[in-house]
Amino acid sequence: MGKHVYIETYGCQMNEHDSERMLRLLEGVFYSETKEAKEADLILINTCSVREKPEHKVYSALGRFKKLKEEKGTIIGVAGCVAQQEGERLLDRMPYLDMVIGTQAIPALPGLVQKVEALGQRVCEIGFDAEGEYLKTPLPQRPLFKVKSYVTIMQGCDRFCSFCIVPYVRGRERSRPSHEIIEEIRDLAEMGVKEVCLLGQNVNSYGKGLEEEISFPELLHRIDDMEGLHRIRFITSHPADLSEELIQAFTKLKKLCEHIHLPFQSGSSRILKAMHRGYTKESYLEKIDRLKEVCPSIALTADAIVGFPGEEEKDFEETLELLQRVQFDDLFSFKYSPRKGTRAAQYEDHVEEMVKQDRLTILQGIQKEITLQKNQALVGCVEEILVEGQSKQSDRDVTGRTRSNKIVNFEGGLDLVGKMVPIKVLKAYPHSLRGEIVSVQNASICNQRSAIPHRA
Ligand code: SF4
Repeated sequence: MGKHVYIETYGCQMNEHDSERMLRLLEGVFYSETKEAKEADLILINTCSVREKPEHKVYSALGRFKKLKEEKGTIIGVAGCVAQQEGERLLDRMPYLDMVIGTQAIPALPGLVQKVEALGQRVCEIGFDAEGEYLKTPLPQRPLFKVKSYVTIMQGCDRFCSFCIVPYVRGRERSRPSHEIIEEIRDLAEMGVKEVCLLGQNVNSYGKGLEEEISFPELLHRIDDMEGLHRIRFITSHPADLSEELIQAFTKLKKLCEHIHLPFQSGSSRILKAMHRGYTKESYLEKIDRLKEVCPSIALTADAIVGFPGEEEKDFEETLELLQRVQFDDLFSFKYSPRKGTRAAQYEDHVEEMVKQDRLTILQGIQKEITLQKNQALVGCVEEILVEGQSKQSDRDVTGRTRSNKIVNFEGGLDLVGKMVPIKVLKAYPHSLRGEIVSVQNASICNQRSAIPHRA
């Protein structure tokens, strides 16, 4: 009988994708996934240390799984950013922990598991991998039954924003050669994947350090030509590295969806300087204006931090002004939390917790209204939806996303999964839309770059 692995994932899309890669590698040593921790022979916690909250969750998850170790000898491992940062200290602190797997040690996972199984050794692998093997992604060993997939194109970051732990736990920027990425996407498309989301901490600096001369927009051009693939997305972009060539790609490439996630973090140039972000409020807004000019239907989302050290009321007001000016489709906002080892953690003028919380509540309240208004503006429009699966809300409904990345639920059967269908938006909610299928003949797609009229 095969063995089972249970993976609990915290944090960003990169972690989600890393968990998928770990599963694929473990299939090679006869593990299959279980969604129940108590059924597992191996439990992996894929961790995030970007903020305080997810880091705390890791320790409480470890506490929960300790009992399973005692009762049935389950192997327990910690992977991801906390593993990279804490290393051996985690083994010292948690005597029931068997494995610590750093961010660049994923390819070593099957060997590490076998070492624990055969020799009962506790292992810690957190070295950085100069050869770049950690970027290679094993293909699934069985059909995927998935409509969309992440594809890592680069990892790491050279920007060293003063609040961010990523360059320390993910290492320096490193890009995958384009032929590897193209091959992976071609294989995924052959397995039925219709949409890829290209992943990297800063995709805009893709290509740096490669032997071939290639920029991120050039990579997008090559992927856009691929047969069988319908949609391309990417995440995350750094505003300072967003080039005119990339902005132009939104009008030139048919498969590139009209959505960009462009974190601004603060609307105050003074705070942006203290954050070492490398742009000002004005230059950020110039890029936003240019995106809207070139691609009027583009959806914009971003990240923002409130309560960064030294943030005064007038800085926070500038953040609110930026929010109103840009009218983001959605925003991921957080209270600043100091990360050990970063420069900002040593700044002295920390903002009081209560002030941070008040600012976050105000910011999120304003954004909630903007998001709802943006969704309401789509009522009556016909949008192209890529159907992803059954809706969580009802067995009679399926769910999918617009090109602008909005969730739409509508009545329909599972035979629609993987298909592009025209949907008329009937109702708008804060986090999703409700719609109904309309016939292609009657559909006047709101987004003129829709693939529907041309679909096979
Ligand atoms: Fe962190 Fe800044 Fe790099 Fe983004 S660009 S990963 S915030 S250091």
